[in-house]
Amino acid sequence: MGAYSYIIGRTDSSKNSFPFEGNYPYWEVADRARRFADVGCKIFQKFTCADCGEHMVMEVPNVLYKTGQCDICGNYTDIEDAGCNFIIE
Ligand SMILES: [Zn+2]
Repeated sequence: MGAYSYIIGRTDSSKNSFPFEGNYPYWEVADRARRFADVGCKIFQKFTCADCGEHMVMEVPNVLYKTGQCDICGNYTDIEDAGCNFIIE
Protein backbone atom coordinates (compact mmCIF):
# COMPACT_ATOMS: atom_id res chain seq x y z
CA MET A 1 0.00 0.00 0.00
CA GLY A 2 1.26 3.46 -0.87
CA ALA A 3 1.79 6.36 1.48
CA TYR A 4 -1.74 7.46 0.73
CA SER A 5 -4.34 6.49 -1.79
CA TYR A 6 -6.85 9.27 -1.39
CA ILE A 7 -7.09 12.57 0.38
CA ILE A 8 -10.40 14.01 1.52
CA GLY A 9 -9.96 17.69 0.87
CA ARG A 10 -8.85 18.47 -2.66
CA THR A 11 -6.46 21.25 -3.48
CA ASP A 12 -7.28 23.69 -6.23
CA SER A 13 -5.40 22.38 -9.28
CA SER A 14 -4.55 25.92 -10.38
CA LYS A 15 -2.47 26.34 -7.22
CA ASN A 16 0.29 24.16 -5.88
CA SER A 17 -1.34 20.77 -6.20
CA PHE A 18 0.89 18.84 -3.83
CA PRO A 19 -1.81 17.26 -1.67
CA PHE A 20 -0.23 18.11 1.64
CA GLU A 21 -0.71 21.80 0.93
CA GLY A 22 -4.45 21.80 1.40
CA ASN A 23 -6.13 22.32 4.75
CA TYR A 24 -9.88 22.44 5.08
CA PRO A 25 -12.25 23.52 7.85
CA TYR A 26 -11.99 20.96 10.64
CA TRP A 27 -15.66 20.01 10.86
CA GLU A 28 -16.06 19.72 7.13
CA VAL A 29 -13.29 17.15 6.62
CA ALA A 30 -13.53 15.49 10.06
CA ASP A 31 -17.13 14.58 9.38
CA ARG A 32 -16.25 12.98 6.07
CA ALA A 33 -13.16 11.27 7.54
CA ARG A 34 -15.25 9.71 10.29
CA ARG A 35 -17.57 8.17 7.70
CA PHE A 36 -14.59 6.55 5.94
CA ALA A 37 -13.34 5.21 9.29
CA ASP A 38 -16.81 3.82 10.02
CA VAL A 39 -16.68 1.64 6.92
CA GLY A 40 -13.25 0.23 7.75
CA CYS A 41 -10.80 2.64 6.13
CA LYS A 42 -7.69 3.85 7.89
CA ILE A 43 -7.61 7.62 8.09
CA PHE A 44 -4.62 9.71 9.08
CA GLN A 45 -5.08 13.32 10.04
CA LYS A 46 -2.66 15.90 8.72
CA PHE A 47 -2.20 19.55 9.56
CA THR A 48 0.21 22.38 8.94
CA CYS A 49 2.18 23.76 11.88
CA ALA A 50 0.88 27.27 12.53
CA ASP A 51 4.34 28.27 13.70
CA CYS A 52 6.92 26.93 11.26
CA GLY A 53 4.64 25.78 8.42
CA GLU A 54 5.85 22.18 8.51
CA HIS A 55 3.38 19.53 7.33
CA MET A 56 2.58 16.90 9.93
CA VAL A 57 0.75 13.61 9.63
CA MET A 58 -0.57 11.92 12.78
CA GLU A 59 0.90 8.49 13.42
CA VAL A 60 -2.21 6.96 14.97
CA PRO A 61 -4.96 6.14 12.48
CA ASN A 62 -8.65 6.88 12.98
CA VAL A 63 -8.16 9.47 15.69
CA LEU A 64 -9.48 12.97 15.16
CA TYR A 65 -7.22 15.42 16.93
CA LYS A 66 -8.11 19.01 17.74
CA THR A 67 -4.56 19.94 18.69
CA GLY A 68 -1.36 18.82 17.04
CA GLN A 69 2.25 19.09 18.13
CA CYS A 70 4.90 19.85 15.55
CA ASP A 71 7.80 17.37 15.29
CA ILE A 72 10.13 20.13 14.13
CA CYS A 73 9.56 23.13 16.39
CA GLY A 74 7.55 21.43 19.16
CA ASN A 75 4.80 24.04 19.19
CA TYR A 76 1.11 23.24 19.25
CA THR A 77 -1.39 24.08 16.55
CA ASP A 78 -5.11 24.48 17.18
CA ILE A 79 -6.33 22.22 14.39
CA GLU A 80 -9.96 23.11 14.92
CA ASP A 81 -9.04 26.69 14.17
CA ALA A 82 -6.33 26.16 11.55
CA GLY A 83 -8.03 23.39 9.58
CA CYS A 84 -6.66 20.04 8.48
CA ASN A 85 -7.01 17.24 5.98
CA PHE A 86 -7.13 13.46 6.05
CA ILE A 87 -5.24 10.77 4.18
CA ILE A 88 -7.18 7.58 3.58
CA GLU A 89 -5.59 4.18 3.17
ZN1 LIG B 1 6.44 23.72 13.70
